[in-house]
Amino acid sequence: MLKILTVVGARPQFIKAAAVSRAIRETDGLTEVMVHTGQHFDPNMSDVFFEELDIPKPQHHLDIHGGGHADMTGRMLIAIEPILLTEKPDWVVVYGDTNSTLVGSLAASKLHIPVAHVEAGLRSFNRRMPEEINRLVTDHLATLNFCPTAVAVANLAAEGVTKGVHHVGDVMYDATLFVTDKAEESSTILTSLGLVPKTYSLATIHRAENTDDREQLLAVVRFLQDQSQKYPVVLPLHPRTRQAALRMGVALDGLKIIDPVGYFDMAKLLHNAIEVYTDSGGVQKEAYFHRVPCTTLRDETEWTETISHGWNRLWMQPAQAVRREIEEYGTGRAAYNVTRLLSSGGSP
Ligand code: UDP
Repeated sequence: MLKILTVVGARPQFIKAAAVSRAIRETDGLTEVMVHTGQHFDPNMSDVFFEELDIPKPQHHLDIHGGGHADMTGRMLIAIEPILLTEKPDWVVVYGDTNSTLVGSLAASKLHIPVAHVEAGLRSFNRRMPEEINRLVTDHLATLNFCPTAVAVANLAAEGVTKGVHHVGDVMYDATLFVTDKAEESSTILTSLGLVPKTYSLATIHRAENTDDREQLLAVVRFLQDQSQKYPVVLPLHPRTRQAALRMGVALDGLKIIDPVGYFDMAKLLHNAIEVYTDSGGVQKEAYFHRVPCTTLRDETEWTETISHGWNRLWMQPAQAVRREIEEYGTGRAAYNVTRLLSSGGSP
């Protein structure tokens, strides 16, 4: 039996890990232990995803959140090491690009435990983003890098990382397929918000580059306020953005502000939106999965195929291409590609 220790901590990681965790449970010879670092802790940023996506309760909860990057990362590193020493996993699996990703990969590699990185190889080429630093370090420490796109594979090759690199597709597409029909049936969010399909837009803002600077946050909010002249803009507000707007005195008038929603409600909101505005990596792709055009509230994106295939544009640039299907995210079996490669130690 191969023991996989999964490290999660933030909302997008619960969604990605849900797909892989389901595949682990369906694969003979694999068993999973989960560590939740506590990076996201509000019930609507954490518990709701475990419930809706059937993720087993984590065996270890570090309950670490808040503080600066060094503080949070340091406390997590100290807390996770004894767990790795006790659990003695065969693989540590980390997701995406948060401080929890960095902590899992750093602590494991120092203990000579092989690391597998799901959603490897993404680059914004902007090292001011904390996410970019987390990705760079993790990809270079990992024994197996599971890439969602061909561009991600090429990014790693350009940095000399070619061993253990596999294009597996996007586990978030698996998650979207799992949830869309269920959400259409069970979510009542449109009725409770008084929304009619295809007559509203959906927005999310949470990146530090948009929330840490008053002028930048004002510019993003003004952009959304302009867009709301066409259709009302629904904005499930991330706790970080709520705090930043309050602290810096940025008024969110004219936008339909709601608390962060669970994954079913989010899928329903995405599926029925006429347009999406976001600085989220996950939401850019989900807009495409639901075939809704997206505007990215950033000056660059890691998901360049959404732009080249006409589904996405950067907010300061016009749309570049005619809309085409994006094949490289796979067919909804990315999580099974991950478990197959974990089982075989990386042999295709
Ligand atoms: N999401 C959600 N509820 C919300 C906002 C986002 O379920 O109120 C989901 C969204 O559909 C996507 C994921 O959270 O699957 C994206 O997470 P986030 O934007 O926090 O992180 P990123 O993708 O930028 O790493």
